[in-house]
Amino acid sequence: MKLEEKVKKSIEKYKMLNKDEKILVSVSGGKDSHTAAWILKKLDYNIELFHINLGISKFSEISLKKVKELAEILNVPLNIVNLKDITGKTIEDLRKKHCSICGITKRYLMNRFGYENGFDVIVTGHNLDDEVSFLLNNLLNWSIRYLPKHLPVLPSHDKFLKKVKIFYEIEEEEILEYAEKEGIPFTTAKCKFQKDAITVEHRKYLNKLKEYNKNIKKQFLYGYLKYRHIFELEEDFQFKECKICGMTSAGNICSFCRVWKIKEFKW
Ligand SMILES: [Zn+2]
Repeated sequence: MKLEEKVKKSIEKYKMLNKDEKILVSVSGGKDSHTAAWILKKLDYNIELFHINLGISKFSEISLKKVKELAEILNVPLNIVNLKDITGKTIEDLRKKHCSICGITKRYLMNRFGYENGFDVIVTGHNLDDEVSFLLNNLLNWSIRYLPKHLPVLPSHDKFLKKVKIFYEIEEEEILEYAEKEGIPFTTAKCKFQKDAITVEHRKYLNKLKEYNKNIKKQFLYGYLKYRHIFELEEDFQFKECKICGMTSAGNICSFCRVWKIKEFKW
């Protein structure tokens, strides 16, 4: 089956998207998010692109160039935000924990941008390999609160938009093959901080296991979907509004505001 057909089936199976929704696709410059935008456009969904310039030398420049090429070919609006304009700093200016802060920052900015600009849903390029490596990581840490959340669709609540992973069931190598065949512009440049991320090691390990059992990743993922209810906590968790920015937050101050300490937020 062709990749577009597989994605179409996932969209139907998990009720991911509707044709009347305004969709913001978060694009990084890499193959996964670019292929997500490419396929959604082919399937005639109403999409715009969103890109954050993180200010990581060389990596951010080449990423931005590829994002612009993609937007031009697809002929869809491209929304670019610069981290430095908003926070006064880049990811490079941080002293530590680049990957976790980068993750917090990207999730916050794409959600806030989508929320403030009337989008219904955010689509990311996360694939099966991403999902199982993050799942394994959360299991190793026994991060109970995150364990029920490895889903293809996270519904909207409060000021959080719906989030959809159209490649939830698709392996990375299949996306790469498709992107090359279709001539989708993307960069293979890796962020220089990525080596800090333990999930990169999990991916290598899971690929090694695939030599023994080629279905190991899918087995792990579908088994999880079958049994994930055992991780759902009984507690009735109440979200709040961040006292600084007003966005939905687990605590009094959201993690974005805690990290960046911005006095006045401007795009
Ligand atoms: Zn905040």
